[in-house]
Formats: sequence, C-alpha cells, structure tokens
Amino acid sequence: MHVDIFTLFPEMFQGPFSESILKRAQEQGLLSIALHNIRAITTDKHHIVDDYPYGGGAGMVMKPEPIFTAVEAVYQGGPIILMSPQGRLFTQSVAHELAQEPRLTLICGHYEGVDERVREHLVTDEISIGDYVLTGGELAAMVIVDATSRLLPGVLGGEESILEESHSNNLLEYPHYTRPPEFRGWRVPDILLSGHHANIARWRRKESIRRTRQRRPDLFAKLDLSSKADQKILKELDEEQD
Ligand code: SAH
Repeated sequence: MHVDIFTLFPEMFQGPFSESILKRAQEQGLLSIALHNIRAITTDKHHIVDDYPYGGGAGMVMKPEPIFTAVEAVYQGGPIILMSPQGRLFTQSVAHELAQEPRLTLICGHYEGVDERVREHLVTDEISIGDYVLTGGELAAMVIVDATSRLLPGVLGGEESILEESHSNNLLEYPHYTRPPEFRGWRVPDILLSGHHANIARWRRKESIRRTRQRRPDLFAKLDLSSKADQKILKELDEEQD
C-alpha cells in the first residue's frame, strides 16, 4: 500500500512512522508513506496557506489552491480522504475497507479547517476518528495509517490474530496472560495452563462474550449468538450473574 499524506506539519509524523511495526512494514516494502508539505508547493513569497474566513469569525481557513495543486501533482488514483470531525466514523470495518486499496491519499486540515471547495470538488471521502475536535488532521491520519496498515498481509506476521481481535466480529477480545503463572498471589486461570486447546478456545469465547456484554452493550446487541454452544455460554453467564 502507498499512502500520500498532505499536511502543513510533516515533521509530526516522524516518530510514529519510524518505530516498531510501521517501520518494519516500510522496510519490508509492504507499506510506503510519502509526506507532502502543502506549504512547500506555494509559489507566493510568503508561502501563504491560510486566510481569513469570508463572513468573519474566529480562526483561519486553509486556502484551496495549495491543496488542489499539491494533490494533483502526485495523484495516481484511489480514494482522497479528508480528515474531518464531520466525516464518517473510523472503525475497524473502515480500516478493513481501506486496507483493500493499493493507494490512499490523506489530507490533513488545520486551524478552522479547509475551504469547502476542497471537500466538494477534490475529496472522495471524509473520515473522523471520533466525536471530538483535534487541532489538526495529522493525528487522525496517523491513527488511520496505523490501524489500516497492520491489516495488510505480512505486516503483523500471525494473520489469525487479526480475526480474533477486538472489533473484528463486534466482539471484544478475551483477556491475555503471560508468565509468571502467579504474580503477587494473583493466579492465571488454570484452564489456560491446562494445554487443552478446545477448553481454552471455549473459555476465550466465553470471556469475549462476557466482556462485550458488560462493556459494550451496543456491540453485544449486534452479535449472533444463536449457536448451541453460544446459548450454553449465555446461560452460564446468566447464572454467574455478571
Ligand atoms: N472547525 C472545524 C474543526 C476544525 S479542526 C469544525 O468545527 O468542523 C482542524 C482540523 O483538524 C480539521 O480540518 C481536520 O482535518 C482535523 N480534525 C479535527 N478533529 C478531527 C477528528 N475528530 N477526526 C479527523 N480529523 C479531525
């Protein structure tokens, strides 16, 4: 996957994109990221990228020409996505959708946002990472690149782990434990030490269902738990009363 990111602050991306899994993905050629400084393509002496809003009011608005020019200079297809608190909400299923694309173009707004003509005539999609307002789209773009690129084949290694993860099937993931088997008197559940794979799988399913029901009733409502095995788990959870 290739990602073109348009921003006024390319340095903001240096840390997150040059460590750990995203670093390795780029080294392996599974992911490439090009950061484009919108200010660098302006031709006027002062490299003006923003201006006062028509109609008055607080803050500055990013001008349309530098954004159009910057994107059009490198665009080679794929969705053009504006980071926006007014966009559709970014979820794991949107990450899966984006992970199918060979190329992504992400535009980061700043200040009060971008001139409406960018939204109307340049972008093909608008994404919000949550119902709050950031100072700029940079953190949103990092979140989207991070969550999307870890779904690309080969990036994580163990592909099966992706299917079991929180939000993959509207289920939150089961709890994890590692060594030592006892820490400050708190023991790892015996079943996980038993080596009995079927029992472990059932325990994990049950704990996933328990957590989802407790923490995210909205996700729980979407689950299909009609199988005999799941019905039995639900009955047990009711009896355990939590
Ligand atoms: N005045 C705008 C908000 C501007 S915030 C409004 O009320 O809608 C400045 C920039 O930060 C936005 O242009 C956008 O690119 C980014 N941004 C802010 N919150 C975001 C969010 N929740 N998700 C994605 N991008 C966001």
